Amino acid sequence: MNFPRRQFLQNSLLATAGWMLAGPALFGASPREITYRVRKGDTLSSIASQHGVSVADLQKRNRLKGDRILAGQKLVIPGEAANALAIAPVIAATKSIHVDHDRWRYIVIHHSGIEDGNAKAYDAGHRRRGMEHGLAYHFVIGNGRDSGEGEIEIGPRWTQQLRGGHVRKTEVNNTGIGICLVGNFEKRRPSAKQLAAAFDLVDWLRAGQVHPKHTLTVHRWVDRNHTVCPGRHFPFTTLKRRYRLT
Ligand SMILES: [Zn+2]
Repeated sequence: MNFPRRQFLQNSLLATAGWMLAGPALFGASPREITYRVRKGDTLSSIASQHGVSVADLQKRNRLKGDRILAGQKLVIPGEAANALAIAPVIAATKSIHVDHDRWRYIVIHHSGIEDGNAKAYDAGHRRRGMEHGLAYHFVIGNGRDSGEGEIEIGPRWTQQLRGGHVRKTEVNNTGIGICLVGNFEKRRPSAKQLAAAFDLVDWLRAGQVHPKHTLTVHRWVDRNHTVCPGRHFPFTTLKRRYRLT
């Protein structure tokens, strides 16, 4: 009587242990990863945009050095990329609005110039300064103080597809998407996480949300001699290299 019972207990303990071990193995390893076969006309950024992941994460996951891909090639689409999560709310919020792709000719990067604040705080500030639509930017990327580090906040100017109020040049305000990174980059560099979120957002915008012949720029290249924004420690060289800007 004893033996079979002990056997039973051992078996059920083993079964439980086996199940517990199977848990992480089954559910922990990027369960949403899929394989995608490249079609003619695909680009890395179109594939990234289609799947809501960043070009950088696609490159990393598939060990690609550049953005050259061939029709028929198989790519693993990462399922749990941290940065894909950062733009996920943007993709979700954009599904229910009509983006006037042809209208958006510029993407302009800013810093807020202060370490405090988030979309809500800047919205209040801009309203106090008499801006009818409040928050001058379309997106605000947090530094971890008043919003998450690398968290992308979506402003009403994006969801309502309104002109920006983030530069002096009227044409650029009318046709430019403003992205503000919270922080004073005259004093420090943006964090890696914040910058990664910004690049992911830019990648996603460029792959289908803006006019094909748009200009990616920063505030001080638009309003020359009027601002230091986005600050001297902003990694301009990285930006130029990544997007082949001259
Ligand atoms: Zn600015």
